This record gives sequence, C-alpha cells and structure tokens, in this order.
Amino acid sequence: MTNNTLTRATFDEVMVPNYAPQAVIPVKGAGSRVWDQQGNEYIDFAGGIAVNALGHCHPELVAALKEQADNLWHLSNVYTNEPALRLASQLTAATFADRVFFANSGAEANEAAFKLARRHAFTKYGAEKNEIIAFHQAFHGRTLFTVSVGGQQKYREGFEPTPGGITHVPFNDLAALEAAISDKTCAVVMEPIQAEGGIITGDPAFINGARALCDKHNALLVFDEVQTGVGRIGELYAYMDTEVTPDILTTAKALGGGFPIGAMLTTAEIAASLVVGTHGSTYGGNPLACAVASKVLDVINDRKVLDDVKRKRELFVNGLQKINAEHNIFSEIRGKGLLIGAALNETWQGKAARFLAAAREQGTMILVAGPNVLRMTPSLIIPDTDIEQGLEKLSRAVAQVIAAGPDA
Ligand SMILES: *Cc1c(COP(=O)(O)O)cnc(C)c1O
Repeated sequence: MTNNTLTRATFDEVMVPNYAPQAVIPVKGAGSRVWDQQGNEYIDFAGGIAVNALGHCHPELVAALKEQADNLWHLSNVYTNEPALRLASQLTAATFADRVFFANSGAEANEAAFKLARRHAFTKYGAEKNEIIAFHQAFHGRTLFTVSVGGQQKYREGFEPTPGGITHVPFNDLAALEAAISDKTCAVVMEPIQAEGGIITGDPAFINGARALCDKHNALLVFDEVQTGVGRIGELYAYMDTEVTPDILTTAKALGGGFPIGAMLTTAEIAASLVVGTHGSTYGGNPLACAVASKVLDVINDRKVLDDVKRKRELFVNGLQKINAEHNIFSEIRGKGLLIGAALNETWQGKAARFLAAAREQGTMILVAGPNVLRMTPSLIIPDTDIEQGLEKLSRAVAQVIAAGPDA
C-alpha cells in the first residue's frame, strides 16, 4: 500500500518550498492513531490542525462520502443540490444565521465575509463606509485580502501592495478599538479565540464592548470561527459561549472533518446585499463536501458530544500540569475545550518547534501556535486512553528536549 520510492526528499524535489514538513510520511489513520511509511504509530493530538474533528476515517463519514460518490459529484452553481441544501438547513437551524454561502476553505469563507461586509455597507450607506478593523496577531487565511485583514505583518511582506482600508488594533484592548472605530467602519473582524496567534481568548468585556461599538457605528461584527467552530470549544460555535451574536460567522476546518469545505453564515437582511452575480465559487457547495459536512454536524451537534469535549479538556489540562510540575516549562495552559495552548515559560521562548519534533519522535503529533506556544487540537472524540498515552509520550518528548538544553 505504501510507496517507498516517495520519500520526504521527494518533497524538496517537486514541491514549492513554502512548507517544511516533518521527516516522516504518514500513510494511514484510524480514529486518533496514525501510521507512517515505516509502520511507526502516532497518537494524533493535532487533528490535522483542528480539522479531523472526528478523527481519521470515521466510519459514518466514510459511509456518507461513499454514498455520495456513487450518486453525484458536482453540478456547478447553475443548479443547486440536495447535500448543500441539507447542510445549509442544519447550519441555519443550529445558529443565529438565516443564510449560508459555501466555499472550499477558511480563507475563502473569510474572503466572502469581508466582501459581503463592504458590499452591505456600500448598498446601505454608500461607498465611503468601507473600513475594516481587525486585530494584531489575528489569522484569517493566506489570500491577499485575508493576509491584509490578518494581523501578522510577516504574512504580507513582499506581497504588497495589499488592499487598503484596513486598520489593526491590539486584541482585548477595548479602548484602542473605540479610538479606531468610526462611522466609516463597515466591519470589525475577530477570532473569538485567537488561535494561530497563540491561543488568546477574547475577554468577555472586550467582546461585549466590540458588539456595542459595532451597533453604535452601524458596523458588522464578523467572527472568524474557522478554528473555534464545530464543537472545538465544547459548544457548536464559540460565540455561543459569549453574550454576543455576530452578524457574519465563518466556519471551515472541522466542518468537513478532513474534506475541504468552508461556509459563511449571516442574516437574511445582510445576505440580501450579495445579489445574483456579486460573488461565487465553482466548487462552493460541492455535493461530496456537503454530504460529509452534513454528517459531521449530525454527529457533533449533540449535547453529549459537546459536553464530553469539556470533560476531555480536563484530562489534557491535568496531564499538562503534571508534565509542568515535573519539568517546569509552561507559564500557562490556555484556550477552551479541545483548543489547547500550553505557553512556554521564559527559559523556552522561541523553542516550540523543538517540542513538536521531539513529540513526533516519541510518537505524538502536536502543533505549535507561533514560536512560544504548544497547541493541541485533537479529535473531539479522542478516546481517554489515547489522551493518557499521548501525554505520556509528550512527557518523554519534553524530557528529551530538556536533556538537550534550551540552547541546543
Ligand atoms: C486556518 C484558519 C483560516 C484559514 O483557513 P484555510 O482553510 O487554511 O484557508 C482562517 N482563519 C482562522 C481562524 C484559521 O484558524
């Protein structure tokens, strides 16, 4: 089944060098376990970067995909299709939203959200109201508009000129947001928990204040829930764990459980600005993607599953605290649900990637969120025994890094 003429070295020969993948090539996954070409087993605390929310090859998702594969793969948006209508009905029933636009990724869902925010303001108030406010360290994707709204300068460098009319202010700083917002603001865009930026939870007072400022200035509040959504934090969407409702919400990653799909959710009133011809996507609403996502929602939007996410978080937090009691490497464990950030202390600043590589050598897949934070976004249904065993391997990895020293 595995092809050993394809190796990690092949990557450097045939791929654009924008990624630096690990030395091994995984070839099979089942639940929260993964195997590489050599048959080494890994416990997966990464979940494909918060994507494989039901683990690898979940039998119900495999069945949904196979059934759709035997019936209809693609039509284009000249026709609608049943899986897309079913999924949109589920999403609108489960959230504040009345209308859905389907895309193929998080960046595309955000692109649609930012375009809609401008178009809505243009339609209702005129072309002057076009400014977008976003936050330092925010991540919204890698298209030109989304790196521009994103708050990390390094992702824009060398790609200028970028789209204008975008201001960045510090996250969780309500005074800074108040100083920046005006009647020319069409949207305030935030991740309710900044994920790539280091697992930083939005303070309730900040989120409530942002909602009030948006209302005062007729600006839309856009929540990028590409990483926080679909059960990740123990609620279907993270806004449900706040006191506010956004005007536009984007969702992707876990929505497809590993099959590419993204969606933008909004109200009927705001959606009305995207009249025929204003926006589109060839693959958006693809029947295969929608059939899988529909099953993902069926399984995850269940109070028992969501509550179990919160319980499993405790297992992780306890385990990480135990590792810390022994090795003293973390300053803080952050996030909500199974969006887990373990911030490295002073001694280990900038060294997150070494822990990721050591964990892989010991047989656990983890992630980083920037250079100073270890991130774990496992399957929402990861078995408790896999959590325990993965944490044991992680503990060995931490010991290995510590043995080499901070300056290795
Ligand atoms: C991953 C991510 C994106 C980008 O999604 P892609 O599918 O990679 O385009 C956007 N926003 C947030 C918050 C993300 O975590």
